[in-house]
Amino acid sequence: MFDALSDRFDGIFKRLKGRGRLGDAEVDEVLREIRVALLEADVNIAVARGLVGRIRERCVGEELSRSLSPAQQVIKIVHEELIETLGGETMKVTFASKPPTVVLMAGLQGAGKTTTTAKLARWFKQQGRNPLLVGADLQRPAAVEQLRTLGSQIDVPVWSEPTDPVAVAEGGLAEARRLGRDVVIVDTAGRLAIDAEMMEQVRQISGAVDPHYTFLVIDAMTGQDAVSVAQAFHETLALDGVILTKLDGDARGGAALSVKEVVGRPIAFASTGEKIADFDQFHPDRLAGRILGMGDVLTLIEKAEEAFEKDEAEAAAARLLEGQFTLDDFLEQMQQLKKMGPLQGLMGMLPGVPKEVRDAEIDDREIARVEAIIRSMTIAERTDPDIVDGSRRTRIANGSGTSPNQVAQLLKQFKEVQSLMKRMGGGGMVPGRKKGKK
Ligand code: GDP
Repeated sequence: MFDALSDRFDGIFKRLKGRGRLGDAEVDEVLREIRVALLEADVNIAVARGLVGRIRERCVGEELSRSLSPAQQVIKIVHEELIETLGGETMKVTFASKPPTVVLMAGLQGAGKTTTTAKLARWFKQQGRNPLLVGADLQRPAAVEQLRTLGSQIDVPVWSEPTDPVAVAEGGLAEARRLGRDVVIVDTAGRLAIDAEMMEQVRQISGAVDPHYTFLVIDAMTGQDAVSVAQAFHETLALDGVILTKLDGDARGGAALSVKEVVGRPIAFASTGEKIADFDQFHPDRLAGRILGMGDVLTLIEKAEEAFEKDEAEAAAARLLEGQFTLDDFLEQMQQLKKMGPLQGLMGMLPGVPKEVRDAEIDDREIARVEAIIRSMTIAERTDPDIVDGSRRTRIANGSGTSPNQVAQLLKQFKEVQSLMKRMGGGGMVPGRKKGKK
């Protein structure tokens, strides 16, 4: 996700590190590089120009000259301006005082609308709501069936009937009132491209159910096309927000960085994979942090909370960041991480994890091997791995069905991670990271 842009910023900031005051020429050079990086990431030209302009204003202003470390100050300015470009604050979803809260879903076919509709229903459930899904996409033959399947996976009822889309939407609303469901999410038809008939249909549905929220689902992988689609929809439908899908496959990030400024509507939610759980509110500050390689501790902690008990998660995260990290923690973390899903995604969320580590292949067999090795160690050895000499290594290898070499390698890796955690916990390495969240 946004790898190219991340790498570019990484390079720019690395070269800035350790420099003293930046002269005008140097500032110009950095701004030029940032502009190129944004354009290569497929960011809308006007948006890139505006963003660089704002960064320039702050860089040449007092802010930079006063600061002790210009590099850090530049990173801070870029971070803040990226957050603004991504929409500023996380969008707040409020609920109708007289339920149900009605949500209308629109989008082109293939954008991920139907899947996202179910993901959103799951999100509402997590907020303690009782959603009803309404299948008003009568265009694509299998759409209602797909919605029913997804609905049963998340245990949310789906209502539809083979009449016409406007009648289905109205009927769905009545059904929600009858069942006492407090959120209604209406899935509407998509087309391969925007056409007049489709726009008219969704406009009529909107008129009939008077939604509190109208969300447009767009595919991040289609870049600026997605932004144009959003613009066209907004002209007809008055969107409240955009839901960006397939961010997991979006290496560039152009749509995410352009939508808010071009369309004037925020990104409300983001989808980052095919699984129903791969979905969350869109947090501009976290994404900006991730683009700048600052990691995303908050998302990590939230994911951890979903996977296991909150206290456990916070304690583990705190230990992790404080660098009090033992082999037993290491093993426990691995087991917890396994529950949280793909490791690769998680590594990108940790602050200060070097790129090489982030991109390293981690497979489940390796986790099993690590587990076997640690389990074959005595408590004394786990507490103080330095006592593991040649004969202990052989015993551990025999016990775990590995080789002494693999045991040595694991202990070496563990030491590296431990020292990395120590450095992270000590601060200094991660600009802008909030400390003290316990
Ligand atoms: P619709 O035609 O807009 O209703 O699209 P669907 O909901 O049927 O989704 C189209 C395809 O995109 C399906 O194969 C989904 O699994 C996939 N998809 C949806 N969202 C995501 C996402 O965030 N990441 C990835 N990788 N695939 C997604």
